[in-house]
Amino acid sequence: MLVSAKEMLTKAKAGKYAVGQFNINNLEWTKAILLTAQENNSPVILGVSEGAGKYMCGYNTVTGMVKGMLDTLGITVPVALHLDHGSYEGALKAMEDGFSSVMFDGSHYSIEENIEKTKEIIRIAGEKGVSVEAEVGAIGGEEDGVIGGGEVADPDECKMIADLGVTMLAAGIGNIHGVYPANWTGLNFEVLAKIQEKTGVMPLVLHGGTGIPEEMVKKAISLGVSKVNVNTECQLSFAAATRQYIEAGKDQQGKGFDPRKLLAPGFEAIKATVKEKMELFGSVGKA
Ligand SMILES: [Zn+2]
Repeated sequence: MLVSAKEMLTKAKAGKYAVGQFNINNLEWTKAILLTAQENNSPVILGVSEGAGKYMCGYNTVTGMVKGMLDTLGITVPVALHLDHGSYEGALKAMEDGFSSVMFDGSHYSIEENIEKTKEIIRIAGEKGVSVEAEVGAIGGEEDGVIGGGEVADPDECKMIADLGVTMLAAGIGNIHGVYPANWTGLNFEVLAKIQEKTGVMPLVLHGGTGIPEEMVKKAISLGVSKVNVNTECQLSFAAATRQYIEAGKDQQGKGFDPRKLLAPGFEAIKATVKEKMELFGSVGKA
């Protein structure tokens, strides 16, 4: 059964660890992440961007696939199915199609309009028991086609959005989506500490988890981050393992061209990356 992200993140915040959000793209991705969560007795959040949702033929298809897997694979750890960087319309549609958690990314609106729309999403989500993530201060890099400037959030604006009753709050603290540039200056812990001070028990979310040095991730978790989003890292490890398989000519040996064989190294690579992240975030054994 899918659950909202509320309980798992409240526990994570209290226990000073973080739950990983791993974005999915297809069946292999989903199966790899769910099995790894189960094997490590860890709660998990499956992230679906609007682009990935379209790619997988709509949120209803995704919900069907995930629910089917929970049942068939005997997954008993808490699993939330979460819309990543949802638009207003996208968040409504995902809730209608059975997602248990949504992010409404109103960071590109004025703070007034962000508040207005976030309130409406919270109202509808509340009726359905769906958790809601809001964002303040755009996160740098590319958010599924939207290029952000890498803002640092205003702690007072964070407090305003948190007080609306969101479940978790994403705040830009110098983090970037995708691969970090060589001249990246690191996370702004001073601002994170202020946000944490103003928002209290609210679980904070760190986007752009790929390539942030481990020590910085740990420090962010100690300062109130309870959810870390990982997307690019699984893509990189999947691509590297698949490349290795093909470059070794294994697709040309025997039935090596069978997609179930061809995609197996990438599948195992995702599992290894997810396990590594769960260990780093401290969520192993916390289901
Ligand atoms: Zn993000």
